[in-house]
Amino acid sequence: MKTSDLQLLARAEVRDLASYNAGLSSEAVRKRFGLTRIAKLGSNENPLGPAPAVAAAMAQACSEIALYPDASCQTLRAALSAKLGVPAEHLVFGNGSEDLLSIISRVFLDHDDQVVTVVPSFGLHFIYPLAAGAQVIGVPMTAAGEFDVPAMIAALTPRTRLLMFSSPSNPVGTTLGAEGLQQLLDALPAHCLMVFDEAYYEYAQFEAGYPDCLSLIQASGRPFILLRTFSKAYSLAGLRIGYGIVSDPLLADLIDRLRTPFNVNRVAQAAAVAALADEAHLHATLEHVAGERQRMAAALQAMDIHCVPSMANFLFFSTPFNAEAINQALLRQGVILKPWREAGYTDYLRVSVGSASDNDLFLEALANALATQQTRSA
Ligand SMILES: *Cc1c(COP(=O)(O)O)cnc(C)c1O
Repeated sequence: MKTSDLQLLARAEVRDLASYNAGLSSEAVRKRFGLTRIAKLGSNENPLGPAPAVAAAMAQACSEIALYPDASCQTLRAALSAKLGVPAEHLVFGNGSEDLLSIISRVFLDHDDQVVTVVPSFGLHFIYPLAAGAQVIGVPMTAAGEFDVPAMIAALTPRTRLLMFSSPSNPVGTTLGAEGLQQLLDALPAHCLMVFDEAYYEYAQFEAGYPDCLSLIQASGRPFILLRTFSKAYSLAGLRIGYGIVSDPLLADLIDRLRTPFNVNRVAQAAAVAALADEAHLHATLEHVAGERQRMAAALQAMDIHCVPSMANFLFFSTPFNAEAINQALLRQGVILKPWREAGYTDYLRVSVGSASDNDLFLEALANALATQQTRSA
């Protein structure tokens, strides 16, 4: 069969999708450019790695991998329920929170339903709803990178089934304040589910002005799913485990109908329990990231680079040049970032806060890249 015929085997929604921009691996960059030293700062990973107790918990779980995992994650469920003060039956678990985004789109969206999100966006907030046949309305953030609450409210219609966005925003790093969140909750149409993606919650939770989003959303009485993950601050990205807090156990039941029964593996469940228990390690991560983030932002500013204030473990910045050109120049120096591709943001890149030495390598490589581009355009 010809490629064009093979394309026709897929559903129309799938044919029209762009591929997910997952970025390059360290190994790929090392090979392509013959480099030894790589700074992988494209996927918001935690340079400190997981809590020390995680390794032992994983080893124990590995001795039992002949057995299916607990389909309902009872041990982790109990631990999270106690920590969050949320009833156990209000929790759902996914093979990463990405898994939950996919399930949510398939459970709640029908053809021609509408989803409101923001731009620039986390790609999957577009991809999964589009794949389900829904229409996605992306509301641009303001010029300062803040949530444009009046524009988001204006985009809501009786056909809006999901209001779905991340705060802290990935990729921008800014957060929705209490007042804006309340305004959105008050404006939600009937039959609209709030999907609040709080993947970077741990990084933001102690920052001045960051609201207790869970409490505010709970108090609204509106139907919601609030998503969190063990991939970011807990440093378990390679294991794939995330969770959601739902307003009503019925929502958990609906999600259960479409998730694969054993979607969270045994090793990930054990690791998450161990990671959750080590608050000191989490605080060490938060302290490291806050300090390095401030140092990087100051260094970018000193280079005359515009960078949006961030409460997460990354910075979103623009240069006078095309992001893809800067990205290529950085890759040649062993630095992996995420150049932005959405229309209107193609001069922006996102850099994760890494180890101090990786961040130094990034700053040095960026200075070189900018100097080269300036010479070229002079
Ligand atoms: C990283 C990220 C996720 C995905 O997390 P996983 O649990 O690793 O699937 C979800 N939402 C946002 C906004 C993210 O940045």
